[in-house]
Amino acid sequence: MKTINAVLNDSNFMKTEIFGMPLPQLQTVLAELGLKKFRARQIFDWLYQKCVFDFAQMSNLGKAERSLLQETFSVLPAEIHIVRKLDSADGLTSKVLLELPDGNAIETVLMHHDYGYSVCVSSQAGCDMHCAFCASGLHGAVRNLTVAEIAAQVYLFNAQLYPLDERVSRVVVMGSGEPMLNFDAVFGALQFLHQPDVANIGYRNMTVSTCGILPGIEKMKALGLPINLAVSLHAVRDELRTELMPVNKGFPFPDVIAAAEDYARSSGRQVTYEYILLADKNDSDRDAELLVEYLRYKQASVNLIPVNPVPEKGFFRPGTKRIERFLSILQQRRIHATVRREMGADINAACGQLRAAFAKEK
Ligand code: SAH
Repeated sequence: MKTINAVLNDSNFMKTEIFGMPLPQLQTVLAELGLKKFRARQIFDWLYQKCVFDFAQMSNLGKAERSLLQETFSVLPAEIHIVRKLDSADGLTSKVLLELPDGNAIETVLMHHDYGYSVCVSSQAGCDMHCAFCASGLHGAVRNLTVAEIAAQVYLFNAQLYPLDERVSRVVVMGSGEPMLNFDAVFGALQFLHQPDVANIGYRNMTVSTCGILPGIEKMKALGLPINLAVSLHAVRDELRTELMPVNKGFPFPDVIAAAEDYARSSGRQVTYEYILLADKNDSDRDAELLVEYLRYKQASVNLIPVNPVPEKGFFRPGTKRIERFLSILQQRRIHATVRREMGADINAACGQLRAAFAKEK
């Protein structure tokens, strides 16, 4: 948290945030400042096509206009401090720890696949869901991120890719936080990023992952966009799932699976079930068979994720043989299943661990 003095000394205090503002609104606020209408389009292009976040560099604007803009607006990506950047040895994954202007920290990951670049964004600073194996809720306050803060996570990487003539083509909302508890900002940011004159990312290339907040899945269905849904399932025995994911008490997993199937049918998109493999917890043959029973004949695929051990929590990764056996039981019963490809395993500190360490230091 910032002290009152720090806030008052902050030169951005009272400035209006321009990042993430829709074009029509930008036109209105610029008109109120006395700028010509076409300036809004120019600024929009600088921000979202050229990834320039500093008014001083917007060379087709007049000098007086640039300083007026600088006095009036802040541009969030320029205010975000990259505290740490970890690059995997294979060069395909980068994980950054970002410090937001209010001192909160979030993690964002860039992955380079053969089909393009994808970014895993956080939806909240921290998390309130208390999943037993996850580090996101370990330390620090929880707050919702804004549209600008979610979109900025994509744009910090777009800015790095710009000189390579590349850009992010996929977004997964699978970083820290529960997206369905920050519904408006998450889907607002995705709709913003989707626009052709912003990041031009297709809805089919976006995925939102939830621990199973039923009303969120229903709202997503009502939105009617072909965004992919992922459900963190992790167990199909009621007692165990509640032990691992307390959210199961309020929203029992069979209801979540039914809502997800309903979403699959109405959106035409397949649902991905994430299933973390925890040694001697949820990785038995019986667990695999139960999982088959729940997902048989559903428009679903399973992503098995050998857990990233969180030392504080005492969970371990099953051996390779166990993982393969679990996978083969699903595949033999015709459930589409894969084991998550280990991208950047060398920097694969479990979700939220960088942030937890940062909060502890503070
Ligand atoms: N709250 C949402 C999205 C954030 S979590 C959700 O629950 O889906 C993103 C994914 O990372 C979830 O599937 C979550 O269960 C998983 N995850 C959390 N901790 C993990 C760990 N230690 N190892 C592997 N995956 C983990």
